[in-house]
Amino acid sequence: MPACSTPATLVCRWAADDNRSGANTALSSSEGRLVELGWGPEEEAFRAELIEFLEREAPAEAVGRDFATAGEDEGIPEWARAWQAKLFDSGWLVPGYPRHLGGRDATPSQSLIYAEELASRGLPRSLHFPGYAIVAPSLLDFGNQEQRQLAPLALRGDTIWCIGMSEPEAGSDLASLSTRAERDGDRFVVNGQKVWTSYATWAEKCFCYVRTDADAPKHKGISVLIIDMNSKGVEVRPLKHITGKANFAEVFFTDVEVPAANLVGSLNDGWRITMGSLAHERGGLWVQGVAGLEHVIGVLTEQAHQLGIESDVGVRRSLAHAYAQVASLRALGYKGFSTFAKTSSSPEHSFLKLASSEMSKSLAELGVQLEGGLGTTLDDSYIDHAGRWANTLLANFAATIAGGTSEIQRNIIAERVLGLPRQ
Ligand SMILES: Cc1cc2nc3c(=O)[nH]c(=O)nc-3n(C[C@H](O)[C@H](O)[C@H](O)COP(=O)(O)OP(=O)(O)OC[C@H]3O[C@@H](n4cnc5c(N)ncnc54)[C@H](O)[C@@H]3O)c2cc1C
Repeated sequence: MPACSTPATLVCRWAADDNRSGANTALSSSEGRLVELGWGPEEEAFRAELIEFLEREAPAEAVGRDFATAGEDEGIPEWARAWQAKLFDSGWLVPGYPRHLGGRDATPSQSLIYAEELASRGLPRSLHFPGYAIVAPSLLDFGNQEQRQLAPLALRGDTIWCIGMSEPEAGSDLASLSTRAERDGDRFVVNGQKVWTSYATWAEKCFCYVRTDADAPKHKGISVLIIDMNSKGVEVRPLKHITGKANFAEVFFTDVEVPAANLVGSLNDGWRITMGSLAHERGGLWVQGVAGLEHVIGVLTEQAHQLGIESDVGVRRSLAHAYAQVASLRALGYKGFSTFAKTSSSPEHSFLKLASSEMSKSLAELGVQLEGGLGTTLDDSYIDHAGRWANTLLANFAATIAGGTSEIQRNIIAERVLGLPRQ
């Protein structure tokens, strides 16, 4: 039996001469024999239990909403709040966490299966990602005992959080942020502005990056404060996406008083937390991204059948090309997952973020093309689901910007993967 380490519990075995059905993947070994890749019995039992839970409990509104976000009109809908709480209470919110944090001490491989199963059904865990995906893990890693107690509430969705990183003059170059926090006795006084702050309109708390030492080199004078969004001096002005939805905002801070006890980690050590927060954001994204793309290719293929254009050479070629690309992304993702599990970082994630966000745009474009002229209409009195692909195309631009733009990912690949000199 060949050694196998990617992922840790993926079972590798020499296959018979033929490529038997039932194997997840079959690779040719250097000796010309086939190697089957499949999950072990514990992972398959985990998957079966999860599927049974999802089929029994997932609300109809959640299915197919994976990349959907809450919008201006609806806020965070009641079904989404109830679903997030149910996932937490059943130990299915973040399976790798212990029970009191909404998990079940799942292994990394089981967590991977979890992310794949949700994404392949188009199921979201939550319609507001900052609390469960970024703030909770950051509080658990860097917060004091009292602050860590905020994590279960963030995970369950009982507290809605926003993240105050970007500013008008500090986006890709986050370390240039200039929102000031000055110490005054047992409090900080905060002045400045954040922008593109997702869910700020509904958030109760902000995980906010502020400058606490203006004289230090720019990476060294940053701290993190927990700011109550209903504090005097906080003003939120919603911003509309290109799709017309408004789920991010500008946030203005004018002489906002924040208790000194709300400092997370050490004073002026916020850059370390920034890196932690972004790692949490990137760590699990690829599985969602890749499985989500596979889901979209399935929808497009079904659509080609419905429209009677499945024999068209161009359509077949586009779908097959997309499928081949996603298959290679998945293989790269497994490689990155293995490195990430060992070292908590892997440059593959930049490539996967870049490739999957750019590909989600081109698949939506293909959807518009498949629908022909009607694909561009947003009026569903002409065609069922009108605007589905056009809106998705517009919305998917955001994925190539949020969490580090495509250009920044290319810089990272150039420097850290290819070893090219910094600009
Ligand atoms: C949907 C969405 C949700 C978001 N949510 C949040 C949130 O909750 N909290 C938060 O703090 N922020 C949030 N952001 C902001 C996001 O992090 C920033 O938009 C992103 O980091 C880019 O910063 P910027 O918009 O200021 O663009 P800039 O940094 O000003 O970049 C402008 C252009 O220049 C390019 N560029 C910049 N520097 C370089 C370089 N060195 N080399 C090559 N090209 C470069 C960029 O790629 C881009 O095309 C969100 C953004 C989006 C789209």
